[in-house]
Amino acid sequence: MTPFPRSPISVRWAWAEKARYTDPVHEMGIALEVYRTCRETVESHGGGRLERVRLAVGELSAVEPELLVYAWEAVVVETPDAEAKLEVVWHRANQHCSACDEAKERSEGSWLRLCPDCGMPLQVDGGDELDILDLSFESDQPENEIGSRPASPNER
Ligand SMILES: [Zn+2]
Repeated sequence: MTPFPRSPISVRWAWAEKARYTDPVHEMGIALEVYRTCRETVESHGGGRLERVRLAVGELSAVEPELLVYAWEAVVVETPDAEAKLEVVWHRANQHCSACDEAKERSEGSWLRLCPDCGMPLQVDGGDELDILDLSFESDQPENEIGSRPASPNER
């Protein structure tokens, strides 16, 4: 069985990038979208009960991990996937000032990506991830781990 997904599935969408404030409704919308995407993935692999989802969340993605986990629990509680766990894998942005030739931290609470020392624009790499890295689910087949390890060819 080929590990799935072969590459992370992005669940980012346009308004999520614009929302630069913390809003529980925002996390709820993302949790719903992540859950919907996971269900589609499970259904496309014969169906089953979702066990665990690992989601990469970048620090620039405007998502609060604790709120997202809370929203996730609210989304799955009324479903057959009530036991499914959401694991947030936090990704920091790499920010580099070419003038100072050093990695720099963005000033706390600021969305301006300027070097705190010399004021030049920082080159930002990553940190806007909102990707399902992998998920596992329980199906009629004994082993159906997705993405984490390949299933033995002797199973099924
Ligand atoms: Zn600088």
